[in-house]
Amino acid sequence: MSEVPDNDELVDELRALRRELAQLQHGEGDDDEVRYRAVVDNVIDGIITIDDRGVIKSFNPAAESIFGYAPEDIIGHNVNVLMPAPYCDEHNDYLDRYRKTGEARIVGIGREVTGRRKDGSEFPMDLSVGECVAAGCTRFTGVVRDITRRKQLEEQLLQAQKMESVGQLAGGIAHDFNNQLGIILFDVDMLLAATEHEATRGDLQKIRKTVLRAADLTRQLLVFSRRQRMEPQILDLNQHLGELRKMMTRLLGEDIDIRLELTDDPCTIEADPGNLDQVLINLCVNARDAMPEGGILRISTDSVLVDETYAREHSHVPGRYCRLTVADEGHGMEESVRARVFEPFFTTKDTGKGTGLGLSVVYGIIETHKGWITVDSKPDLGTRFQIFLPAIGDAPDADPDRQPAVSTEQGRGEAILLIEDNLELRQRLVHILTTSGHRVSECADLTSARKVFGQGAFDMVLSDVVLPDGRGSDFCLDLLDAHPELHVILLTGYSDGRGDSDRLEQAGCPVLRKPVGVTELLEQVRRTLDGS
Ligand code: ADP
Ligand code: MG
Repeated sequence: MSEVPDNDELVDELRALRRELAQLQHGEGDDDEVRYRAVVDNVIDGIITIDDRGVIKSFNPAAESIFGYAPEDIIGHNVNVLMPAPYCDEHNDYLDRYRKTGEARIVGIGREVTGRRKDGSEFPMDLSVGECVAAGCTRFTGVVRDITRRKQLEEQLLQAQKMESVGQLAGGIAHDFNNQLGIILFDVDMLLAATEHEATRGDLQKIRKTVLRAADLTRQLLVFSRRQRMEPQILDLNQHLGELRKMMTRLLGEDIDIRLELTDDPCTIEADPGNLDQVLINLCVNARDAMPEGGILRISTDSVLVDETYAREHSHVPGRYCRLTVADEGHGMEESVRARVFEPFFTTKDTGKGTGLGLSVVYGIIETHKGWITVDSKPDLGTRFQIFLPAIGDAPDADPDRQPAVSTEQGRGEAILLIEDNLELRQRLVHILTTSGHRVSECADLTSARKVFGQGAFDMVLSDVVLPDGRGSDFCLDLLDAHPELHVILLTGYSDGRGDSDRLEQAGCPVLRKPVGVTELLEQVRRTLDGS
């Protein structure tokens, strides 16, 4: 890129040299020059001066590191090499107009433009321009700041806010919907218990299955909105994947060749196994959909050390992470699709085939596990998802305690205080508990529950968590402090992450998730009353 300087340029240079000479002769400028250099050479912003035809006259060290050019490579060239189209054309037009009319529109105004580095890569930058005329020459000074990092953070924040609000909406709906499902499930169970008619029983079983499927959907929504109670445990990711393999093969069909490539390194993480399954199922089902003719699906693990820089880019802490990679050789994605895959309800599938919730649920789960997920994809070249989960040092629990089976579900006249604000649900609960041999006092809020509890002798309190005048969990924990012999069961649609699940666990207080079937309820009541 060598240009022969034209006449105007030579005149400019000559003037500048004369000025310098005059300053030297008068013994001025040495101090000023030193001060000026000290500032320009050490600021973190790039400072570039150009003349009125766009020719670069100076290029400070910060500009050097921002653009990747050494001063000797770039001084004398037109500044538009530092800008991609259309910015460089705009800039040429702008200087043309300036020379013809003297109109200096961008001077004094900061604006966001795109810069181009020596290697051709582009980046967002803040640019502000100042103009000065000294010794008859016009100079523009551009101050440039690379804002790549700020842009990334803005985008991450926007994405997080979007997820948060949709999550709240979804969670709210799912909670109420779950209560309705609970009512239907109780009704179906009671009808099942009351009828011997084979055909009717078959129909009722079908309804029951549908209700449980619907409950599964609400669970997805609750996980997504992070209101689902998480039950993290220490587990070995490799072992977990090994156990899942069979289920995956059945789920994906014979045309998909699942290849597990697991590292020999320990892959111990703290995760909710159910959530983990959901992540894998969603990723694998998407991969299958992307390979309608079949193909290879690689699921691999390895252990990676995440350094400061990389962690900062993803707003996470540095350290050792287990990486789970799910890669397919399917149809891949265009960039416009790839950029939106984690958005709730974003789908490219036909109505009835996709909900657009799969990957947003995956995203939510990984976030709650303090990890992150990335996606690479090219049309026709397949897709690769990578999940990073914090690794922990401890070995997995060898043999988790199994809960003992119960022998009977029947009550023996024990007194139960039931607190549930949903009338229909409460009526069903009263019916189920009394017909199975318990004595029940019912309340719709905590105020009346306090009163009723004070007036009688109760063996057990069965309480909803979210009540109109407070949290059933707080009420029960207080009761347990005062009456350690009392039995307590909580019935909840969700846990809002206020951290009371730990306290409840410590107090040995079981939590039943709505919707709950009759058998499950009665078994838990019996087990709790028996103190097992
Ligand atoms: P859904 O599967 O219901 O459409 P998801 O949230 O699971 O919703 O996925 C969103 C979209 O992301 C899909 O519709 C699809 O366009 C794209 N996608 C996800 N996984 C893959 C993949 N493995 N290959 C190609 N496209 C994918
Ligand atoms: Mg999906």
